[in-house]
Amino acid sequence: MIRFNSINELKKYCFNTHSSYLKNNHFRKWINNKEIHIFNFSNLRKEDIKHIKSGIEDAIAIVRLHFKVYFNNESSIKKFSNLTDEKIDSRKLLKMVIEERKKSHKEHADAFIFNNPIKSTNAVLRDGESLTYVPQGVMIFTFDAFKKYPHDFLSRRAKHEALHLLGLNFHHEGTKIEGYDNNILCNMNYNAPTQHLCRKCKDAIVYFWKGIEYATKKQFIKN
Ligand SMILES: [Zn+2]
Ligand SMILES: [Zn+2]
Repeated sequence: MIRFNSINELKKYCFNTHSSYLKNNHFRKWINNKEIHIFNFSNLRKEDIKHIKSGIEDAIAIVRLHFKVYFNNESSIKKFSNLTDEKIDSRKLLKMVIEERKKSHKEHADAFIFNNPIKSTNAVLRDGESLTYVPQGVMIFTFDAFKKYPHDFLSRRAKHEALHLLGLNFHHEGTKIEGYDNNILCNMNYNAPTQHLCRKCKDAIVYFWKGIEYATKKQFIKN
């Protein structure tokens, strides 16, 4: 649990969390590239994926970042999704993504969408769950092939995950900060119950990017 006694303490903390990220080569490249590409290897249809895209765009708009989201289908990662019932090993996938980027000399952030369950270090994700590797700029979503997901659910989940990607490294429940209403529903609650992002979580991500701008002397936030 992260506890601070004032709004300013939170802002200061978030302003200074960039250093470990900026040491990472991949992180510096994908944030400078300012693109997030969506690869759909699931049976979700274009009209469903649209809502995942708009959730990601919502997260970008909260910080007013110069990022754009694109649909993309050209990736060797696709071969993972051909093994429909098999779990995807997230570490292996990550390794392949890095290799592919090396070959193509392109380092945008990626959102991969599968029907396969995803095996991460200590859990198996399925049915609308997702995970994010911030330094590498990779989001992985998995959706049950036989389930119909409400569009609102898709955009809430995507927004939550994109906020992690963009540097919000905690959950709403994981912080208690004097000066904010900690008890309201927020998109950064674990289960992303709402589209709404509370003031506390919004300040956290905005100050993260102010810190990035300060450290890199580059502009990421729109005027
Ligand atoms: Zn989360
Ligand atoms: Zn919140």
